[in-house]
Amino acid sequence: MVQMNEVAKIRQRWIDAGSPACDHLELDQEFYLGARDDDWACLSCGEEFSRQEVRAMREARDD
Ligand SMILES: [Zn+2]
Repeated sequence: MVQMNEVAKIRQRWIDAGSPACDHLELDQEFYLGARDDDWACLSCGEEFSRQEVRAMREARDD
């Protein structure tokens, strides 16, 4: 679980690094003010995804 403000920092670091390509392998569920929501974020680049997008990515990777 990752806090939304952490995700914002990760994203800024990634942009500062020139926004390299990311495979989004380190997805974690986002946590906002202690309440679970349906958003996920990549811990490498800070990009955010819906649960449906995460499921689609995982299914694609299993092939
Ligand atoms: Zn990523």
